Order: sequence, then C-alpha cells, then structure tokens
Amino acid sequence: MLTVTDIHSYYGKSHVLEGVSLTVNKGELVTLLGRNGAGKTTTLRSIVGIVSPRQGSITFDGSETVGMETFEIARRGIALVPEHRGIFRMLTVAENLEIAVRSGSQWSLADVYGLFPRLWERRKNGGNALSGGEQQMLAIARALVNGPRILLLDEPTEGLAPVIVDELVNILREIKRSGVPVLLVEQNLNVCRKLADRHYVLEQGQVVYHGTAAEFDADPTIRDRYLALS
Ligand code: ATP
Repeated sequence: MLTVTDIHSYYGKSHVLEGVSLTVNKGELVTLLGRNGAGKTTTLRSIVGIVSPRQGSITFDGSETVGMETFEIARRGIALVPEHRGIFRMLTVAENLEIAVRSGSQWSLADVYGLFPRLWERRKNGGNALSGGEQQMLAIARALVNGPRILLLDEPTEGLAPVIVDELVNILREIKRSGVPVLLVEQNLNVCRKLADRHYVLEQGQVVYHGTAAEFDADPTIRDRYLALS
C-alpha cells in the first residue's frame, strides 16, 4: 500500500537518506529502528512531503506522491504524528479534536473518546494543561478523527512514564486491529516487539536490516550490531 523505493533526501547539501526502500502493507504495523541521527524522522518527513526526495519514488495505493505538496499527501490519508506532537495548546482537548474531525473518517469523536478515556476526562482542559502522555494521546486521536488511511508515528513513547507507555501500546494495538496500517519510529525495543509485524533498521541513511518480527527476535546479534548504544 505504501512503497518507498530508493529515496535520496537532503538538507541543503547534506545527503541524509541514501537510497531508502521500504513497504507497509494493508493492516501491518512496521517499525523503523536505528540510532539517533540514522534518518528515521527524515524518512517520515520525506513520505509526507515536508522534505522532498531528490531521487526515488514513493507510491501510496499505486499513485506517486513525490513532488506533491504536503497538504495533498495529507488529503490522501497519510497522517504524520510528529515527535513534538503538534497539538493546539491554546485550545481545549475537545476543540483540538472537533477541528480535526473529517466526515467519512472511520473514527468518530465517540470512538476516540472510547479509545482514550483520559481525553474524555480532560476534554475541557487546555492543551497546555496536559501531561506529555496526554498530549501524545491527543495528537494520535486528532490523526484518527481525520480519517487516516495510514498512520506515521515518530517516537510516540519518548519521555513518557512506563505506565503511560503501556497504555499507549494497548491503544496502538487497537489501532492496528482496526486495520489502519502504521509505520512506527520508536527507540523503545520492548514497545516495538510487542506490536510489530516487521522491522527495518536504518543506519546512516540506509536500510541495513529488514525482517519479520520472528526473524528479528530469533537473532539478537542484530540488536547488538545496529541498535546497541555506541
Ligand atoms: P533522532 O532519533 O535523533 O531523531 P533520526 O534517525 O530520526 O534521529 P533524523 O532526524 O532523520 O534522524 O536526522 C538524520 C540526519 O539529518 C542527522 O545527521 C541530523 O543531524 C540531520 N538533520 C536532521 N534535521 C535536519 C535539518 N533540519 N537540517 C539539517 N540537518 C538535519
């Protein structure tokens, strides 16, 4: 459904992605792993058109998206929840959700409040009065009510307390069960292993490993080689 083929992306003259290829199929949750600076965020930004790859192809349901404006890509249903979450801090939780609702989304307001009971409890609070975990939940909920056809998540558990991380894992499981495919950038391997169908590992802008969850789990040398802190 999402096919990234040999993309090369740059910041100015700095060649950051050097031929990244990956796929996310219908109903899959796929993780993108790698050390800091490997190019994970840049890959997500390239998929949504914030960074425009200078070479390579990205297709979503068979149509090329390289060269499209970010809003056009978003309109096709590719939703990015960025690392710094992107919620409106001056609006309440309810307002943040109401302005994101799109008719035809498979997720209604009632559905997301059901998925995130904390957001229902905090619905009258301002975005600026939420904990980090609640902000993350709101950012994901906003993406859902907008009717995503694929969800790209950039380090959703970063900086969150373990109990909130567990809550998010359950929520991501529900999202996966609903059939929305997910491409997840995540440093927390436990989270990845609880959720993923397949993993990709990036290093210096290249995919250095790709395998199913079972293959990845069966070979701990991959973790030592590519993911151990240097
Ligand atoms: P992290 O986990 O630290 O976010 P990452 O794997 O997501 O790492 P990217 O953020 O994609 O990595 O960064 C890849 C490379 O591009 C790094 O060397 C980084 O310093 C560089 N880079 C990222 N953003 C910019 C930018 N706006 N301008 C210039 N260079 C950038």
